[in-house]
Amino acid sequence: MQRFDADYVPRSAMTIFAHPDDAEFIVSGTIARWTRAGCEVTFVVITSGNVGTHDETTTRDALARTREAEQREAARALGVKKVVFLGYDDCELVPSLELRRRLVREIRAHRPEVVICGDPHALFFEDRYINHPDHRAAAVAALDAVFPCAEMELLWPEEGRAHKVHAVYVCATHSPNTWIDITGTIDAKIASLEAYGSQLGGWNPSERIRERAAREAERAAKPPAGEPDRAPGGPRYAEGFRVMKLKE
Ligand SMILES: [Zn+2]
Repeated sequence: MQRFDADYVPRSAMTIFAHPDDAEFIVSGTIARWTRAGCEVTFVVITSGNVGTHDETTTRDALARTREAEQREAARALGVKKVVFLGYDDCELVPSLELRRRLVREIRAHRPEVVICGDPHALFFEDRYINHPDHRAAAVAALDAVFPCAEMELLWPEEGRAHKVHAVYVCATHSPNTWIDITGTIDAKIASLEAYGSQLGGWNPSERIRERAAREAERAAKPPAGEPDRAPGGPRYAEGFRVMKLKE
């Protein structure tokens, strides 16, 4: 097994996402696979999704508390022991220097080998989904915090001892280069999503999640133009990443 290939399991990982449920929708098959193999995972959740409803009778505070509880329950289903809420406001996130510094503090405190975050370039998905501005802002802030800020000793020494992240796993990307087999953890992925009663409104995510993961597995099996066909018998379900190796 090579470092950062599809079978690699880091000793520790940190996800950095804008909302409760982002990690579950996008990368929870991988998270469950890694925690089962002994990886210590920390979830950093930048906003508590406090406007994520069309129900005008609720309040921002009440919704934030509900969504934080859902996030904790989802983390338990995935074997994730640490969840950090940064308490920013939903739908107002910008990749400010202040947010970058806040993320540097978390990276230096938890010292993950791998950071998982979104892709700031992904704006359109097919012809019906515009990537949420918070997702793009979170992705920019996460990448900037990882490199170079967290590893620069003279930058913000009061935020903790400098730390170099070994690799970033960029997800929800149009340019994946690595696919992780989640056939054995697709059920954990679906179970983690079922924690989000406030977001699902009775909808059962199982079919959609299986469909997407199967499509990713198909994409993984298809060689780029000019390359020979890969051997059959690849995974049934997969999650795709652009893996950026910062330290061999
Ligand atoms: Zn989101």
